[in-house]
Amino acid sequence: MQGQKFLVTGGSRGIGRATVLSLVEAGADVAFTYRSNQEAAEEVVAEAAKLGGGKVVSFLADAEDYAQAKQTIESVKEALGGLDGVVLNAGINRDKLLVMMAENDWDDVISTNLKGTFNYARASVYGLIQQRSGRIVVVSSVSGLIGTPGQVNYSATKAGQIGMVRTLANEVGKFGITVNAVAPGYIKTDMWDEMKEATREKVNLTIPAGRPGTPEEVANTIRFLLSPDASYINGSVIVIDGGLSA
Ligand code: NDP
Repeated sequence: MQGQKFLVTGGSRGIGRATVLSLVEAGADVAFTYRSNQEAAEEVVAEAAKLGGGKVVSFLADAEDYAQAKQTIESVKEALGGLDGVVLNAGINRDKLLVMMAENDWDDVISTNLKGTFNYARASVYGLIQQRSGRIVVVSSVSGLIGTPGQVNYSATKAGQIGMVRTLANEVGKFGITVNAVAPGYIKTDMWDEMKEATREKVNLTIPAGRPGTPEEVANTIRFLLSPDASYINGSVIVIDGGLSA
């Protein structure tokens, strides 16, 4: 992927971090955003530099804010000398049963996950249309496909992202742009590690693969969707869940 230029939102931790490192290793130049944890962002830049692949730059930018998204896309183009695709990964969860859910639990998750996806898709799509090529990969979740108690807000955003992907794929396919989603199941990120051992064992029993996925296993699929090998995949949702939703 030498010479290709990508932006990953929320690239300082978890799946986003693994995606940044995977793309850099493949020779791409990568920019990533984060919201607050500068130490984690610096670690990713240092880790990426060790790989000896493409260039890496980070931007502090809140995905919820459209003006910041617009500015970030411009800054990324300047820093990398162009933009071939975006990975819309920044996301949060505020899990609670609906009966206990506060209004701001709903608003915060909608703002980051759904509005954030709109912000970066909107801010980048016109440039991709002008250059008649581009890739948009949205990191959704199996929670957008199957119901998981405690995730009414999160599921609404993840299902919403899939609706956005299918619609946008129809709008921009004719310009040589592909728009796809990945839908990971349980992935071994901080959230998984914080779960009690007994809960992890219970969850593993529900996954045909018998284990959570790794961030790298999700990153590999994202990298494939950004690569020339995936040129005819458009409007698709690739589930990466070890068989959980099957
Ligand atoms: P993490 O919590 O490990 O990392 C989230 C990343 O997003 C961080 O870099 C964080 O930056 C950034 N971020 C969060 N909010 C914002 C914001 N408003 N603006 C900019 N950056 C932001 O997340 P995961 O790797 O677990 O999840 C990544 C994506 O994958 C999410 O969309 C999630 O819904 C999806 N997913 C995750 C699964 C899992 O099991 N982990 C399963 C299925 C889907 P900072 O640290 O600075 O706040």
